[in-house]
Amino acid sequence: MLEHDVIIVGGGLAGCRAALEIKQTQPQLNVALIAKTHPIRSHSVAAQGGMAATLKNVDADDTWEAHAFDTVKGSDYLADQDAVEILTREAPDVVIELEHMGVLFSRLPDGRIAQRAFGGHSHRRTCYAADKTGHAILHELVSNLRRYGVLVYEEWYVMQLILQEGQAKGVVMFNIMNTHLQVVRAKAIMFATGGYGRVFNTTSNDFASTGDGLAMSALAGVPLEDMEFVQFHPTGLYPVGVLISEAVRGEGAYLINSEGDRFMANYAPSRMELAPRDITSRAIASEIRAGRGIHPDGSAGGPFVYLDLRHMGKEKIMSRIPFCWEEAHRLLGIDAVHEPMAVRPTVHYSMGGIPVNTDGQVRGGPEGLIESFFAAGECACVSVHGANRLGSNSLLECVVYGRRTGAAIARYVPNRKLPEIDESFYLQTTRAQIETLLNQSGSIRIAQLRQALQDCMTKYCGVFRTDESMTEGLKHLQHLKQQYQQIYLDDKGNNWNTEIVEALELQHLIIVGEIILTSALNRQESRGAHCREDYPERDDSNFLKHTLAFYSSAGIDLQYKPVTINLFEPQERKY
Ligand SMILES: Cc1cc2nc3c(=O)[nH]c(=O)nc-3n(C[C@H](O)[C@H](O)[C@H](O)COP(=O)(O)OP(=O)(O)OC[C@H]3O[C@@H](n4cnc5c(N)ncnc54)[C@H](O)[C@@H]3O)c2cc1C
Repeated sequence: MLEHDVIIVGGGLAGCRAALEIKQTQPQLNVALIAKTHPIRSHSVAAQGGMAATLKNVDADDTWEAHAFDTVKGSDYLADQDAVEILTREAPDVVIELEHMGVLFSRLPDGRIAQRAFGGHSHRRTCYAADKTGHAILHELVSNLRRYGVLVYEEWYVMQLILQEGQAKGVVMFNIMNTHLQVVRAKAIMFATGGYGRVFNTTSNDFASTGDGLAMSALAGVPLEDMEFVQFHPTGLYPVGVLISEAVRGEGAYLINSEGDRFMANYAPSRMELAPRDITSRAIASEIRAGRGIHPDGSAGGPFVYLDLRHMGKEKIMSRIPFCWEEAHRLLGIDAVHEPMAVRPTVHYSMGGIPVNTDGQVRGGPEGLIESFFAAGECACVSVHGANRLGSNSLLECVVYGRRTGAAIARYVPNRKLPEIDESFYLQTTRAQIETLLNQSGSIRIAQLRQALQDCMTKYCGVFRTDESMTEGLKHLQHLKQQYQQIYLDDKGNNWNTEIVEALELQHLIIVGEIILTSALNRQESRGAHCREDYPERDDSNFLKHTLAFYSSAGIDLQYKPVTINLFEPQERKY
């Protein structure tokens, strides 16, 4: 059995930042990072628009309090305000730290870090590296992993969290190259496994965003928090769903319907295209529903609206948002200097996740913590985003809470012993799981069932939801769950058998989908990204609380947890 002081699952911004913090404060600790992709290929690398922090380089009167207020208002008052205070107070410091590490941020003419406008932020506070911010940050963090001696297991798929008697003890992992299984034990285990965009059929997320960490936690008995809050980004490129960053609107682009109107004037007159994402996505979906969308031939009544950059001019487009221009050109042959881009909402981000306290320690329920288990980044819910995340607050969360969780683990581990694990039991059961997949004689292909799940979630639990649609969705999902027993794998071999990985991921997607639907069905109000047509108002007296969903094969049990409100009293949310 392999053993380390600390195991971190996930090589994106959150996992890498935590690993560095541990090695910088406790260099003698043996820290291993496991990722099913090469760490550089984590979804963080695709982040475009930037990272918010009140550096005051452009808006001198910005404050952390203003950033905190924007974040809490953006969250529709569901964020825990103590966690938001930490996020916004520590933001300037973590940006400077990254810059000292070597991250190449874009500059103002006087050499200071440049900052741009972003949706829902009242000041220009988003720091960026053109529109390739995640790329710039992740490359520095990963090269520092080597420098500080973090051992990396790349292209190993973690398939089980070993959690017994309220303590996380290790993981079982699968080597994608040769199907070899390993049990690893550690004094602390941290999940930084990212989001689950692939639960839906149109997403900005990469193929690896399959919610594995969430499903493995749920299977081990850990509750998942606020899973009903799924962020739809307003501007996914039609029809592929690839992201066109909010930075494009931050730099001045317009949203236009089939009548040529800047329709955001009817939905958020004071913020226009820079309203928060939930409001802008609903506005686009409403325009499309009302017949003011556009068809590929330019006629009215189609499935998308236009994102129009033409008035911005070639020089600004090519210097500030070159990557978005390239994406539209590469994928659809659109030259955004001369033509508008076709866009519609695309699934983008998970506000919910594994519940943690502000040190990244995982909660076992409304009260109490799980020993030795930590989480940060998109897979965690601390909760700084509540019901709706503001753009450029996620990279920030990964770095602030990655650093804090790393620091907490470095304090925690020196007093702990390595846990006892029955290695052969875990090897046998996971080997049997894989053998079953390889030997079952069904007729359903993985891609077919995955597509059916993604279509089901998109149809029944999309931008607009009702009791009827979600009840129907859950029924359908039960049927799909049974079909999982009948999937058929073509590849029976041991070399790079990615079909096994896809089959394991599909099981996780189904679990996450069921938890999203069940949590959403039970929140009978509209708040942030969760929009119920049958309950159109926010209902603070009954639902100003976090959902905790406990998964078991018998069904999902829901409990609730209060919201921490210590800075700003809930108000009506208008822009
Ligand atoms: C296209 C796009 C653009 C974005 N732009 C911005 C932006 O401009 N600003 C902003 O603030 N946010 C942005 N976001 C959101 C932000 O990038 C993500 O929320 C954040 O990067 C997530 O980082 P993470 O470290 O939590 O996880 P990720 O970067 O997703 O990394 C997850 C890691 O976990 C590993 N992993 C997962 N499951 C397993 C398993 N079973 N076994 C082993 N390893 C596993 C993966 O291999 C990977 O290394 C964007 C997101 C997208 C999709």
